[in-house]
Amino acid sequence: MRKIIYAFIAVALILSGLFMPQKLLAAPRLQETGEKTVIVIDPGHGGENRGTIENNHEEKYMTMTTALAMYDELQLYDDVEVYLTHTDDVDMSLKERAAFARSVDADFLFSIHYNASENHELFGSEVWVSSVSPYNGYGYQFGYEFLSDMREQGLLVRGIKTRLGSKGADYYGIIRESVSLDIPAVIIEHCHVDEERDAAYCADEEALKGFGRTDAAAVARYFGLKSGTLGVDYSDYSLSESSASSCVGVTLVDSTEPESCQIDFLEADYEEGILKLTVSASDPDSALLYYSFSLDGGRTFGPREAWPGSDTLTGTYDSSFPLQLMIPPDTAPEVIVRAYNMYDLYAESNPYISARIFRPEPEPLPSADPALNGENASGIIPVHSDALEQETEAEDDKALSLYQFVLICLFFVLAMLLIIIAFQYTMYKKRKKRRLYRRKEAGDIWNQHK
Ligand SMILES: [Zn+2]
Repeated sequence: MRKIIYAFIAVALILSGLFMPQKLLAAPRLQETGEKTVIVIDPGHGGENRGTIENNHEEKYMTMTTALAMYDELQLYDDVEVYLTHTDDVDMSLKERAAFARSVDADFLFSIHYNASENHELFGSEVWVSSVSPYNGYGYQFGYEFLSDMREQGLLVRGIKTRLGSKGADYYGIIRESVSLDIPAVIIEHCHVDEERDAAYCADEEALKGFGRTDAAAVARYFGLKSGTLGVDYSDYSLSESSASSCVGVTLVDSTEPESCQIDFLEADYEEGILKLTVSASDPDSALLYYSFSLDGGRTFGPREAWPGSDTLTGTYDSSFPLQLMIPPDTAPEVIVRAYNMYDLYAESNPYISARIFRPEPEPLPSADPALNGENASGIIPVHSDALEQETEAEDDKALSLYQFVLICLFFVLAMLLIIIAFQYTMYKKRKKRRLYRRKEAGDIWNQHK
């Protein structure tokens, strides 16, 4: 009996081990800092340079709130020296910020930002890193930590990315200037303040401070810090697989649109107004991030949605997925889907033109045109625009028959009037004649009696 119990416990232990959350990351830390870690936090913008001004927010104040909270949190760790590039609302060039980091012998500069897009359509968090080794690998290992937290909070991860200027150097000044002074640097774009799905994440001061604390925790994991005050020790923490000598594939800038985007009919419920399509797309250079669709042949597109299975940290995404669309009543949609990659470049699909109308409205009253009735009754009309035309024609027809009816009535009344007048006139003539005749007769008699 005891043997059975032991065997049972052994099996239970093995099974619990299998189902325990596995540590997926098992790569060594690329950047070592020695005894003390020197961290520089750079609140983005300041002074005349106000940053993004959207949705009642001003970026320079947001970045300062987050940076100060990040500073306070990092102070709680052992063996760290933490600096801010500035604490007052002042103008400071990117060169000056990098020079400040150099002056304190910084191990890393973290530039704090909030994002917005021209058409208010982008959402999610992203990290910009250097395209130069080994800073690229450092940036990737930090970005992975930070963005994993953002994903856990429910934000879309837009990726760890590089951007190059015209001369092939890093485009973003704070990264370029820092790296030129041998200081690793990243730009942290927490979320988009002007998109409703992101706006709630940065709505108030507490939310902005929360980002600061999350940033600090990502920095602590990245450097393997420990804190007696917080009761955490990341000294054995493993980071994402990366390389110091060559750049990480998923961080490389992609300047070409996705290779393909295709939609195919899956099924439709014309009564309920549901259309299901299969969307397939590919981009060999970077992960697909969003999709959007048009129901009017590409004239207007709906908001962007997260591409299913998109993982910009590893560069993977679902190559195809079913898309269910609610079609507005009485329309035959012409669907086009856009597939966007991590750099917001998109490919447009083939159009899917519905041969039938979804949720057709009750049949219109029979009109004068029999050909029109026949087509409406069958409900099959080649394309959406035709259907609209048909409908306006039918409307016109109804208006026309009413007009005709009034005209006919008027004509009838007029004709009746004319008949009455003519009748009265002839009666009058007859009476006159008769009177004359009578008078004549009387005259004759009179003459006879003379
Ligand atoms: Zn900014």
